[in-house]
Amino acid sequence: MSMSVRGVARHFLSQTGPLSVYATFLSGVGGNPTLRARIESIARQEITFDVSECTYSWTARYEQIWSHVRVRVQLDPDTGISAATMATLRTTWENAIENRWSNRWSIGRPGEVACPITFDVQWITNNAHHLVRVQAGPARSNMTLWDTSDTGAVAAHEFGHMHGNPDEYTDANCSMRTPVNTGTVMDNNSNNIPQRLMQRLATNVGSNVL
Ligand SMILES: [Zn+2]
Repeated sequence: MSMSVRGVARHFLSQTGPLSVYATFLSGVGGNPTLRARIESIARQEITFDVSECTYSWTARYEQIWSHVRVRVQLDPDTGISAATMATLRTTWENAIENRWSNRWSIGRPGEVACPITFDVQWITNNAHHLVRVQAGPARSNMTLWDTSDTGAVAAHEFGHMHGNPDEYTDANCSMRTPVNTGTVMDNNSNNIPQRLMQRLATNVGSNVL
């Protein structure tokens, strides 16, 4: 992951009085901490917020370290779905999610290095940001219910919900939805990731999408 030291340091702009580089960045951790590890620690945020769109509502959750977004997902397969099937799906889904979302845009402000926005999905078995049931496919999927027929493109769409993006396709039950028919990952699972889908991530760290 890349980081802007100058950008992360803006965290301290409102602080008055002496700022000790040693006390702030290097004390309180064992061993010989690297400056990089300390800056990552200072930059790390757990982001949680509720999303409500049309008749749908959910909670977005993820970890953000400057321009790096990490989402911990626990997959719970239905009985009868083999370990081998799940291993294949995890690889397919992770590759598609990370390739589609990463390195499309950067964040930065004038005078600060531009850092590519990158995404990591971690398949874990506890302390998840999101729980996903996996059923035998084909079926209709949503953020918390996937199936064995889901392509990487579908997984990338559902991952978009996990960090707060609503659907962008027309829905007869959601006549007020806007925008729709955008041709993006949140519309038709395409490889199109527009800048506006990154705006919240930049705002989270007081930066701009580049
Ligand atoms: Zn959706």
